[in-house]
Amino acid sequence: MALDSKVPKGPIKDKWTEYKNHINLVNPANKRHIDVIVVGTGLAGGSASATLAELGYNVKAFCYQDSPRRAHSIAAQGGINAAKNYQGDGDSTYRLFYDTVKGGDYRSREANVYRLAEVSANIIDQCVAQGVPFARDYGGLLDNRSFGGVLVSRTFYAKGQTGQQLLLGAYSAMNRQIARGKIEMFNRHEMLDVVIVDGKARGIIARNLVTGEIERHSAHAVVIASGGYGNVYFLSTNAMGSNVTAGWKVHKKGAYFANPCYTQIHPTCIPRSGDYQSKLTLMSESLRNDGRIWVPKNMEDVLAIREGKKKPTDLTEEQRDYYLERRYPAFGNLVPRDVASRAAKERCDAGYGVNATGEAVYLDFAASFERYGKEQAKIHNISNPSEAKVKELGQEIVKAKYGNLFQMYEKIVDENPYETPMMIYPAVHYTMGGVWVDYNLMTTIPGCYAIGEANFSDHGANRLGASALMQGLADGYFVLPYTIGDYLADDIRTGKISTESPEFEAAEKEVTERIEFFINNEGTHSVDYYHKKLGKIMWDKCGMSRNAEGLEIAIEEISALRKDFWQNVNVPGTSTEYNEQLAKAGRVADFLELGELFAKDALVREESAGGHFREEHQTEDGEAKRVKEFQFVSAWEYKGEPKEAVLHKEELAYENIEVKERSYKFNT
Ligand SMILES: Cc1cc2nc3c(=O)[nH]c(=O)nc-3n(C[C@H](O)[C@H](O)[C@H](O)COP(=O)(O)OP(=O)(O)OC[C@H]3O[C@@H](n4cnc5c(N)ncnc54)[C@H](O)[C@@H]3O)c2cc1C
Repeated sequence: MALDSKVPKGPIKDKWTEYKNHINLVNPANKRHIDVIVVGTGLAGGSASATLAELGYNVKAFCYQDSPRRAHSIAAQGGINAAKNYQGDGDSTYRLFYDTVKGGDYRSREANVYRLAEVSANIIDQCVAQGVPFARDYGGLLDNRSFGGVLVSRTFYAKGQTGQQLLLGAYSAMNRQIARGKIEMFNRHEMLDVVIVDGKARGIIARNLVTGEIERHSAHAVVIASGGYGNVYFLSTNAMGSNVTAGWKVHKKGAYFANPCYTQIHPTCIPRSGDYQSKLTLMSESLRNDGRIWVPKNMEDVLAIREGKKKPTDLTEEQRDYYLERRYPAFGNLVPRDVASRAAKERCDAGYGVNATGEAVYLDFAASFERYGKEQAKIHNISNPSEAKVKELGQEIVKAKYGNLFQMYEKIVDENPYETPMMIYPAVHYTMGGVWVDYNLMTTIPGCYAIGEANFSDHGANRLGASALMQGLADGYFVLPYTIGDYLADDIRTGKISTESPEFEAAEKEVTERIEFFINNEGTHSVDYYHKKLGKIMWDKCGMSRNAEGLEIAIEEISALRKDFWQNVNVPGTSTEYNEQLAKAGRVADFLELGELFAKDALVREESAGGHFREEHQTEDGEAKRVKEFQFVSAWEYKGEPKEAVLHKEELAYENIEVKERSYKFNT
């Protein structure tokens, strides 16, 4: 099947406007006769459900939690980007577009990214109108901070709880429609298959997780907003329930899956403490605004710290290696996530890791305490403040910015990060890959859409910080509500879709049989046994560093593990009760299939891109030699403006990246 991105013609800056001017619309009376299913009510699905219902469509929204308020989006800490240029520091739609494409290693679809940058400003206005309490500066205007990979401050935030506040906004908007009867909300329901009738997505099979009942639901279109699949690695910063099932089911029914192996490995997570851990915790990237990352310069100090003979605070400035500041003076500690993660791994692989497992570097706030403290002393007219006073004043400022994150760190690690530097290490965080969508956000199944983290497209091989919330809300509030109308305009006379068709019958039968298999199998190993084993293969062989030999072994190992799973998995309980293990069995079964595709995708990509370092590209001195292939297919930017391309090449050369120029059709 030839992929058609359906990107409108014309200059990139006019595409979205022109598109909106010419698409088919559904008039308000007709919208009342059209049903839309939205699977997932995180920021992407929640905003889409609320907006579609506000427009007049009948929405059926599904989530597996007991409330949309508990979607994984609630975990987002740092912020959301928008090209508002409130700081007057040179930001613009073009710059946000440019940074996002560059941050994604030139592997995103430029037309989508430009649209994303364009609507980013509307998102902030929408959320402020909903009452989202974004942080404000001293004058009462919305405040911004900076995130990795950019040279401006464009990140809007609500302390370290941005996702939670945005989700409350989307949830309120949804609730208004639930109260009006325009959204029918199905909490604790899991979509287990999509139903295709005459080549179009016309419904889903869902399981009521409380009663176990299998239900048929029909609609004129189905929207997948089910989030990311980082939990294929078992340990990740994702919510425990995050999974690939909805995306995988539509893939198995014919929707293409793109870039499965592009995973973001976030540089600032709390290091793993041992083998019995089931979750990793993110420390927001915003901390890199004020924290400096280092490891000891000398191996004796590393060993002394590990043995408890020295504390990090015993080391002088000269004894520390602020390796990001040393290697990347322009960006310093705010290099993009992939660069920061690889650099931390490189130092730890070289033996400089500072904790017992050798997998930790320091994130140190001492310099910020001093800088803010001196400023505060001046502001408050305190002459000759003592060192302790300066530190105290500085800590108050840091506390106001990130207090909840410091508290979370102390609770988990049992060390006070105001007194000793935090320890951090990269962890799986976000999946750039997902269900392939065209410019309309439609998958290759007509009538089936994918939005938010569940789709691919906007972030290429690596997502910049604070851009996932932006994308999810752009898709849900501002893009899908237009594009879906263009498709649904043909459905105004279709009438209700019946669930009494052979297609619904067959899909329900398949789902029921699989559930019965799990309950009746009476195997020897728990679902988690398999999930952990899969996670270890993924992390060891499909993680930050990859090589052909390891990937080939991973493919064999995953395939053997899947076989074992289907013979020996044990699921306790029954299918007619609330049964977490049963739900998890289905999710892990899908991870076991995705894992293999993931490794195959990684194997054929003979390049280092995003967070992934292909070991065959290692140079003699151990540095990563990365190969980049520009997408000249849609590279309007580079064609007309050779200066830009030259600039990229200089930057890439700095990172020892070999630039291969060729037409790169994959991301159309
Ligand atoms: C710790 C952490 C911090 C982050 N911080 C930031 C940040 O500061 N800024 C930023 O931009 N991004 C951040 N991100 C990324 C961002 O939070 C996510 O990418 C984004 O919230 C995903 O939103 P979503 O709506 O696509 O999916 P989710 O919020 O994951 O929602 C998925 C929804 O799908 C439902 N669902 C899934 N499968 C099924 C199924 N089979 N049937 C029924 N329902 C289903 C779930 O119930 C849920 O409602 C962070 C991520 C993590 C892990």
